[in-house]
Amino acid sequence: MGNTTALLADSIFREHLAGREHPERPERYDAVAGALERSGLASRMKRIAIRVATEEELGLCHTKEYLKVARRDVETGHPFLSTGDTDITRNSWDVASRAVGGVLNAVDAVMTSKARNAFCAVRPPGHHATAARGMGFCLFNNVAIAARYAQRRHGAQRVLIADWDVHHGNGTQDIFYADPTVFFFSTHQWPLYPGTGRADERGAGLGEGATLNCPFPAGSGRREIVGAFENALVPQMEAFRPDLVLISAGFDSREGDLLGRFTLSDNDFAELTRILMGVAERHSGSRVVSLLEGGYNLSGLASAAVSHVQALMDGVD
Ligand SMILES: [Zn+2]
Repeated sequence: MGNTTALLADSIFREHLAGREHPERPERYDAVAGALERSGLASRMKRIAIRVATEEELGLCHTKEYLKVARRDVETGHPFLSTGDTDITRNSWDVASRAVGGVLNAVDAVMTSKARNAFCAVRPPGHHATAARGMGFCLFNNVAIAARYAQRRHGAQRVLIADWDVHHGNGTQDIFYADPTVFFFSTHQWPLYPGTGRADERGAGLGEGATLNCPFPAGSGRREIVGAFENALVPQMEAFRPDLVLISAGFDSREGDLLGRFTLSDNDFAELTRILMGVAERHSGSRVVSLLEGGYNLSGLASAAVSHVQALMDGVD
């Protein structure tokens, strides 16, 4: 039981933005969940249930004011969040708060050794949402809330968040910018939305040095990104020694994506996964929780997710 990979996948994640023309569309969930089923992986995984995240849990990383605004926008039928470029439908609060709650169930499973690691096939994504502002297709910062929850609920001291989405995880960076207990590492295309993530953004105050950005130009791929994980991230983890490794797993850094221009292959995502599992095996009791972020080419998203999950299940060489 403790050596299994857990899966959070629930068809409610396809209901946000149903019927709307948008790149962050319900078919993304179908592509990932369907591919995990067809590959035979899903049936070998321990299933994680969804639940509604409480306002207190959402408030681990978001301001009361933002939660009030976001709820009002959804309830009044606004087509998008008034704080930024995130389309919403009437059920978006329900779906997004269940995504967060499911992720927290996955954190519970991994922190209590009921599973070794977990993959969360959630929509909407989260890494662009700051404490006070949903933006970039994101309502709640799923990965940031997971990190804080692991600290508050399970006593994790230090958490690594590694973000390989083609976009910079500005929200995650912002939430932990002055916090030395959460290390944020990101590889991303530069220049690109949202415009943050320069190499000289390294954290502030006590958090200085606990943010590590590796921006790369369009056309970058395995050499740059696998290289950054191996040569920039891994050595720093010897000093940081995370108790938990979280992954912002965006597959828009794969070749053929509609929004990104990186050239990572499915095998490269397996390799990135193995590098992070190596960090987790060395420091974190092998605890890894991975969350879906972007990825807009449906077939590429599906095959990259399968490769990533297969690597989570295979373990460290
Ligand atoms: Zn992205």
